[in-house]
Amino acid sequence: MDMLRITEIYKSIQGEARYAGLPCTFIRLTGCPLRCRWCDTAYGFEGGEDYNLQHILDKVEELGVHHVELTGGEPLAQAAALPLMEALIKHGYQVMIETGGSYPIKHIPAAVHVILDAKCPGSGMQEKNLTANYAFLKPTDEVKFVIASRKDFDWAETYIREHHLETKCHLLVSPAWGLVKPAELTEWTLASELPLKLNLQLHKYIWNPRAKGV
Ligand code: SF4
Repeated sequence: MDMLRITEIYKSIQGEARYAGLPCTFIRLTGCPLRCRWCDTAYGFEGGEDYNLQHILDKVEELGVHHVELTGGEPLAQAAALPLMEALIKHGYQVMIETGGSYPIKHIPAAVHVILDAKCPGSGMQEKNLTANYAFLKPTDEVKFVIASRKDFDWAETYIREHHLETKCHLLVSPAWGLVKPAELTEWTLASELPLKLNLQLHKYIWNPRAKGV
């Protein structure tokens, strides 16, 4: 129960969402049941190494950063992600999780900042959105839409209203890299009547967009 399959653990800056720009330790869990068309972390679908909780905590402590994010892959696909979050909180870290939205978030500890993807049609994974999750969002959490076309943006606006997401938490829109220009998405966001926040992935502007471990 305390073993996790891990692709990489590294220190970088947080590239997106509320803590963008701050130093962060990333724990990338191996494996994901989804296959988003524009996925930029397919290298995390397979491979990795087995770590027990103590090994992960030691590595996180060595990196010495207050913010720690579980990402993937799909971190919630591994049962031991929950005890890992609990252990990190107990050790005083500010914990975040980025999840694809197809696994329940109900049991995530309340102290964890959740960034939940809502998959648009352009991902090919829109049927995987677990809408029951929306009842468990905290006002401080964030729902992220990766936008691959104007059609995705229109779909996201309708979806937000249908599920009243604008009343539940913060809403992020990100351009799918190479498919939508940041300037286009900025114009759409400005014209929207919804409280959308433009979410650019800083790491892709700082380093090579295909770089791993950044
Ligand atoms: S959920 Fe995330 S890791 Fe999984 S395929 Fe989609 S973008 Fe890639």
